[in-house]
Amino acid sequence: MAQQIKTPPIVPCARCGAEAKCIDWDFRDMWKVMCDNNHTSTKECSTIHRAICRWNNAQIKLQDT
Ligand SMILES: [Zn+2]
Repeated sequence: MAQQIKTPPIVPCARCGAEAKCIDWDFRDMWKVMCDNNHTSTKECSTIHRAICRWNNAQIKLQDT
């Protein structure tokens, strides 16, 4: 049995600290992560996993600066 791919947890928004969630952008099966204050650092992605990874990486970069 193949291991189930685990979706990584979404880190909170680095700009405002709000919780972020992955949404189906325009219901086109394109995924985007947004915080509760509508901050987003990602373009639409074809998978939830990719959208979350991009978001998480972007938040880490924001925290470093
Ligand atoms: Zn935010």
